[in-house]
Amino acid sequence: MGSVIDYIECSNCKKEAVFDYYYKTGEGYIHCPSCGYYRAEVIKNKDKKLTELTKEDWETKEYTKELNRVLLLIELESEMP
Ligand SMILES: [Zn+2]
Repeated sequence: MGSVIDYIECSNCKKEAVFDYYYKTGEGYIHCPSCGYYRAEVIKNKDKKLTELTKEDWETKEYTKELNRVLLLIELESEMP
């Protein structure tokens, strides 16, 4: 599967981020090496044809390093008695 690598401005820290775009499916991944920002737009339902896809068949995952830290803290707190 072919993909195109492009460089865009990170929406989190405004530095340079990598945009990996799969032109056959339209899926895209953004990763910023400066701040750890990550965003993925992927198709959930791979059984459908591209022309039959609706908004519900797409999934957007997004997180930053800050969010990861918060999730880790919640995990640690829940383990405490
Ligand atoms: Zn960034």
